[in-house]
Amino acid sequence: MKKIAAATAILIALVAALFCFLPTFAENPGHRAQKPAADQQKAEEKSPPDTDPPRTDEKCVYLTFDDGPTDSVTPKILDVLAREKVPATFFVIGQQIKNREKILQREADEGHAIGIHTYTHIYSQIYSSAEALTSDIEKCRQAIRAVLPTFDGKIYRFPGGSYGKQDLRDTVRALGYTYYDWNAATGDAEAHRSAAELFENAVLSSKEKRQVILLMHDGVGYASTIEALPQIIEYYRENGYTFRTL
Ligand SMILES: [Zn+2]
Repeated sequence: MKKIAAATAILIALVAALFCFLPTFAENPGHRAQKPAADQQKAEEKSPPDTDPPRTDEKCVYLTFDDGPTDSVTPKILDVLAREKVPATFFVIGQQIKNREKILQREADEGHAIGIHTYTHIYSQIYSSAEALTSDIEKCRQAIRAVLPTFDGKIYRFPGGSYGKQDLRDTVRALGYTYYDWNAATGDAEAHRSAAELFENAVLSSKEKRQVILLMHDGVGYASTIEALPQIIEYYRENGYTFRTL
């Protein structure tokens, strides 16, 4: 009988432990795909986030900018980040680095993280095969290293997100990269959004999330992103988020 009682006690303890842990998983933002607000991103970027934000209990936000460097937008984003003293992560397009070496250098010098986005950003080419994607990533890496010889970053963002690219996710992992999607977005990839709309999207898509990976862009034409950024930063700061890089 003692054995049965002991076994029952262990079973009860296990069940109790399971229920203690379950909420932890449930509360972990990004653990399951979360749909960005409807109509928030351009068609090819409608994929839900896939990668978990880095596992941490800290309330933190990762500001991420895709599609730079550009002459018209990136320096102004950097100005805002410098003024606000917050770091961000830039997923760059390799073929845009030429003639913008100083901008890339500035991103690194000012403490921001640099990740690989793509060399060409042409979906039909880069996603045609594992070899094509590997070559695109390597070309982007070389373009960064031409400016920053010690660059050895291992973070990657799929153009359009990793959703539905199971085999290519494996390819990226096999190359030693960690890929990051996003679990919040300003929706700035959709044309003609006002700064107020971008701010509202950032707030709405971040709600109830302790770790936020916010998708923004520093490609050509993202003037509203520059305009919205100070208010976006202020929101996270006032709500107790720490600013981190991936
Ligand atoms: Zn992109």
